[in-house]
Order: sequence, then structure tokens, then C-alpha cells
Amino acid sequence: MAKHQFQTEVGQLLHLMTHSLYSNKEIFIRELVSNSSDAIDKLNYLKLTDDNMKKSIGEDWSGEINISFDEEDKSITIVDNGIGMNEEELISSIGTIAKSGTKSFVEALTGDAKKDSNLIGQFGVGFYSVFMVASNVDVISKKAGEETAYKWSSTGTGEFEIIPVTKETNGTVIYIKLKDEEASEFAVKERIKNIIGKYSNHIAYPIYLNYQEEVEEELSEEDKKAGKEAKKTIENRHEKINEATALWTQPKSSLKQEDYNEFYKSISHDSQDPLCTIHTKAEGVNEYTTLFYIPKTAPMDLYRADYQPGVKLYVKRVFITDDEKELLPTYLRFVRGIIDSEDLPLNVSREILQENRILANIKQGSVKKILNEIKKLAKDEEKYEEFISQYNRPLKEGAYQDFTNKDLILDLIRYKSTKTENGKLTSLAAYKDRANTEQKAIYYIVGENEKVLRNSPLLESYKKNDIEVLICDDKEIDEIITPTLGAYQEWEFKDITSVEPPKVEQTEEEKKEVEEKFQDITKKIKDILGESVKEVKVTNRLSDSPSCVVKDANDPMAQMAQMMKAMGQ
Ligand code: ADP
Ligand code: MG
Repeated sequence: MAKHQFQTEVGQLLHLMTHSLYSNKEIFIRELVSNSSDAIDKLNYLKLTDDNMKKSIGEDWSGEINISFDEEDKSITIVDNGIGMNEEELISSIGTIAKSGTKSFVEALTGDAKKDSNLIGQFGVGFYSVFMVASNVDVISKKAGEETAYKWSSTGTGEFEIIPVTKETNGTVIYIKLKDEEASEFAVKERIKNIIGKYSNHIAYPIYLNYQEEVEEELSEEDKKAGKEAKKTIENRHEKINEATALWTQPKSSLKQEDYNEFYKSISHDSQDPLCTIHTKAEGVNEYTTLFYIPKTAPMDLYRADYQPGVKLYVKRVFITDDEKELLPTYLRFVRGIIDSEDLPLNVSREILQENRILANIKQGSVKKILNEIKKLAKDEEKYEEFISQYNRPLKEGAYQDFTNKDLILDLIRYKSTKTENGKLTSLAAYKDRANTEQKAIYYIVGENEKVLRNSPLLESYKKNDIEVLICDDKEIDEIITPTLGAYQEWEFKDITSVEPPKVEQTEEEKKEVEEKFQDITKKIKDILGESVKEVKVTNRLSDSPSCVVKDANDPMAQMAQMMKAMGQ
């Protein structure tokens, strides 16, 4: 018997699972069924691509999930005939947290039960959710193509143990011993049916509920008159309780938003409805179906290099991979969903995928579709605000990365500006519309702090001339990206710290006059500041502030100083 400690983060997670008041306990069934479906997906693929595997599991193998329950025993059992897990996989998959997403989730935990359970709501935790209802869990699994089966058991506190056991067929059995107070709720036929109908109706494999039912013999009228007692027998039921058709293969007209939402939750772990659903069937050079979702809340690992991609690739309904970051461009990494191609070969390898023309076409079509859908979303101001609050930054990345769609993306980005306030943002199109007839450029200023930027003396002459300036306070990204944007509809982006301010109408004579008037004072200031400044002169850059320091754009030392600063020196 081998005992193992849970990884620290798992321990934390389990503690939270069992102690915080989590209102949506029923989702453990969705999570376990979705794992079973993933495991069948993987074996399905091997059956089609690996002859040895096909021999080993048999030509007739097809995936299915079986659920049973026992009221007296207070248990639920979920069985699949998928790929299964061997000993190492049991340890690594359900003893540690491998995925960055889950890791960052755990890192974000505060120890405050209420806040934390909200977090769980935003973020699924897969298998471990079973410990919300279980006092003990056994996972008995046999990996397809291997000899030994193993049983993993745990009460969800501190440790788990693994022992070898015998099991005839490949796949996984999850035996859930329910906590006393949960048993009467979940070891119940109608409840399980209901949960499956709600969350797992469109899992692509049949889910059967197995139970016993007492049936009463039907008596004839005569027998009834004669007072005969009806015989009661116990019958075994094996009832299919889901539709078992992949949701995306259904015609749009037969699907309700509700169906889409539940499917979204089953693939994303998210407990909120999606912000946007995009279901497309493409016919033409390439035939494929895509179903994309934009989550209401940006995935937690959005800004981590090891983020988990959210799009699964299928070929003719056969799952190929969910670990391919190339299916969509990186700036759309917040999108969740599936791509199902009719034309790709089933045995596509990673290398092939990356150079595949068909996939490149699908990718291109998908990007257009998603961006256009976001554009539609922009018509609904309230919804779009919600979108932008989460995704303005990835869009900016897109304007930088995706040259083909730059114009479209620039239309979607929103900015703070000298003519917006109270958190309102402007589009570039609206900026252009508001500009006066002489203006030919988009002016912006970049920095860390909105307030400081808004009070910059450099803005004064723009204000005076009624020229709007974009306030770019997402410095980390604005500083890199804005200078590379070039132009938006022929208007160049211009950083006001390095261009001449707009001319205030002033004749040469007037200028001279002013200069002369201030000659004494500028000389005095220069005398005091001495070598530390190059020159002190009268300017029309400012209107309210008395003075400001500017750099000489041609001064190599000034540029050097900037560079050294940028490198952190
Ligand atoms: P996720 O499904 O997001 O990977 P889970 O916590 O739900 O996270 O599951 C963790 C891992 O455990 C899965 O990735 C898979 O490798 C393994 N696993 C869980 N259930 C099964 C199962 N029924 N059959 C095979 N592997 C499973
Ligand atoms: Mg899972």
C-alpha cells in the first residue's frame, strides 16, 4: 500500500472545497462526466490512428458513460470506458496541480471563505470538486493497452493511497461515497437525470443511468375482480439520459441560448454565462464548424506565458487536441470553444498542424468571424463596456500582431482621452469625428498614472486649440504598441511628448514682442540654472502652467538618458 501526500496547493484547494460554503455543489457531476468524455475522446482518437490500440480495445469499442447510485450505501458511481490512467498518471493528474490556470487560481485564494467561493465560481477545479459532496472517493482505473489497474482512494484530507487491483476493461470507475448530509440529495434518480440534462446533455457520448425499479404486474379485469394480488418484480433499467449529440453539429435553429450556455459551462468550467456565442458552419473551399465563446470574465491565466489555450480541435467529431496554442492567434487566447474540420486528416501531428494550409484557412476565417462579432457587440454600449473592461489589452496586442486585421482591430480598441471622463472611453472613429477640420493626426500621451497624465502641462496647448489627446495609461503595453500603430484611417498616431505642439496663431512680430518682454526673466533663470539646462526660452506650449522642462529631440544625450531609463538604469 502506497501512501502519498497531496501537493500543498491541492491540500489548500481541498480544504477550501470542503469548508467554504459553496452553493453549487451539483457541478461535481458535470466535472466528472466531462473528464470521462475527455478520456473517451482520447481513446477514440487512438482507435482511429493506432492499429495496435484498435486491436487491443476491439473493433467494436465505442465510448459510453454509465452512472449508478445506491441510496442505502449513500453512493454514486461513474464509469467510463475511456483511456484510463496508470499509476503515475493517477499521482500526477489527481494528486498535484499541473495546470497553470488552476495554480494561479489557488495562488489567488485569500483564505476568506466568501471571497474564495466566489472565485471557485469563476473558475472550475475539475476533479477536486467531488470533495464538496464526498466523504471518500475511489478512482479505479486501467489504462488502455496496459495490464495493471490501480485504485486511488482519498478522503480529501492531506493524503491519498494507491494500490494495484484487478479490473477487466480499460477505463475509469469513480466511486463516490457521499457525506451523510448530501446523500439524500444526490443519490436520487431524478436529481441525477436533471443534472445531466442541464450540464451534460450534449456530451458526444451516451450517458446511461442504471437503476432498479419495482414494477407491478398488470392484472386483467377478471383477476382484479377475483381479488388477485399483483406480483411485484424488480427490474434493472439502463436508461440513456442525454442526447449524446455534439452540440455544435446541431443546426442553429434547433438550439436555444440556454443550450449554448450550458455547453459553454461544461467546456470552460466557468459558472457564469458567456458574454458572446459565435456558432458558424463554413462551407466552401474548406468545410468546418466552429463554436466560439467569449467569457464574461477574462480567464485568470490570460497574462501568463504558460496560459492554457481554450479551443479544442476536432476532425469529423473526433477530438484531436486541446493543447494547441496555434489554433487562434495569441491575442484571442481568451476565446473558448471548438473547431471541427471535415477536411483535415485524422492523424494530424503537431508539426503538420502548424504548417497546414487547411488549418491556416480555418484560423483566418475564425479570426474574421470573431472580430466581426466583437464589432457587432460594440453596438450595444453597455455590453461593450463589459467586454472592453476585460479585453482592451489583448485587442491592443492584436493591433500590433495581426497586420491583416489591424484596421478592424483599431476600430474595436477604446481609449481614455481629454474629452472623456468618469471612466468613459472613446473609439478612434469617434475621436476623428470630433476633431476640427485642420487636424490630421491622432495625438496621445503615455504614462502610468491617469491623473498625472491628465494634469500634464504638455496638454495645455492642445486644450487651448481644442485638440483631443488620448490618455494611454496602460503604460506597459501602450508604450510599446502605440508608436508602432502607424496610422488609423490615414491619421498618424503622434506622441505629444515628441512632436511640436499645434500652432497657436501668433505673428512673428507678436512673438518678438513677447520674447523681448520676457528677456530679463529668461536670462535670470538661465543664470540661476546655469549648466544644468541648455536654454531657457519663451514658449507657447503652455497656457496655464508657468513653465515646463522639455528635452531637445535632437540631443543624443536626452535619447540616451531615455534608453538607459528604459533598461532600468
Ligand atoms: P481537467 O479535466 O481540466 O484536466 P480535472 O481536475 O478535471 O482537470 O482532471 C485532472 C486530470 O485527471 C485530467 O486532465 C485527466 O488527465 C485525469 N482524469 C480525470 N478523470 C479521468 C478519467 N475519467 N479518465 C482518465 N483520466 C482522467
Ligand atoms: Mg476536468
